[in-house]
Amino acid sequence: MTDNEISPTPESGETATAPATRRSTREGARLAAEAAKGKVKQVASAVRPTSSASRRKGAAGPVRSVVILTMVGGLVATVALPAYGAFSSGDGTQTVQQLAAENAQSLVIASDASQSSITRDSYSATTADELAKKKAAEAAAARAKSASVVSRVASVNLSLVAPGSGIVRWPVDMAGTRVGDGFLSRGGTHMGVDLLNAQGTPIFAAAAGTVRVAAAGNYYYGYGHAIVIDSVINGQQVSTLYGHLEDGGVLVQPGQQVQVGQIIGLMGSTGQSTANHLHFEVKINGNYVDPYAWLQQNAG
Ligand SMILES: [Zn+2]
Repeated sequence: MTDNEISPTPESGETATAPATRRSTREGARLAAEAAKGKVKQVASAVRPTSSASRRKGAAGPVRSVVILTMVGGLVATVALPAYGAFSSGDGTQTVQQLAAENAQSLVIASDASQSSITRDSYSATTADELAKKKAAEAAAARAKSASVVSRVASVNLSLVAPGSGIVRWPVDMAGTRVGDGFLSRGGTHMGVDLLNAQGTPIFAAAAGTVRVAAAGNYYYGYGHAIVIDSVINGQQVSTLYGHLEDGGVLVQPGQQVQVGQIIGLMGSTGQSTANHLHFEVKINGNYVDPYAWLQQNAG
């Protein structure tokens, strides 16, 4: 990890010294352990009643050990103080580095996890608590978005009529028509199917019904010149939308009754469109359904 990639808040600035502190602390602990072993050895030799020379030698041992231990203790206290001071941050939150400092074993895991998150999602948060809150908020938003789509795309039986009965028909002649982006493509935002053909290709009513929207002199949202027809098919409320018709290509008027298969418009590329195509949407009882699957199951 590199601390300089984390925003230089006072907290992280303080704890930037933590790794060095831990290393020094561990080094100190090792020295202390070695010194303790040495002390035991020296004490053992000291209590062994041999010659006076060895007794003098033994007497010097503990003194040296005490000096070493004192030095080690001083080392630990000196370098450890900033780290302990860093733990008492004003708001009670701890940085990832601080959490890691409490447990050297978790340092690599905690730092790597937060580091990759910062890199991937450009988090500005520096504390584990903030990161957790951000991730929880994003997860909740994703669930809400997903639930929203699911509620609009409820499980609906697409089969309303016998396929090929003529009650539902294809809105364009599929001969020479290419199927482009489908239902819920583009990250789940595309609520229709794109049927591509030449400008001016006739567009037919997919079902008999009443024209609710006929945007001939204006654009209907991003659909450009568009038509919406409300139908009742086998007792179900079905709305069909025809988008991106060419200028002058809306051939019906609001309130008009149309028959299935009747020419209602001409293909174009008006509105949010980059190619001549029909953007076709279907709602059953207000729920978006896969329009291509719906056509396959009902138009045959
Ligand atoms: Zn489309």
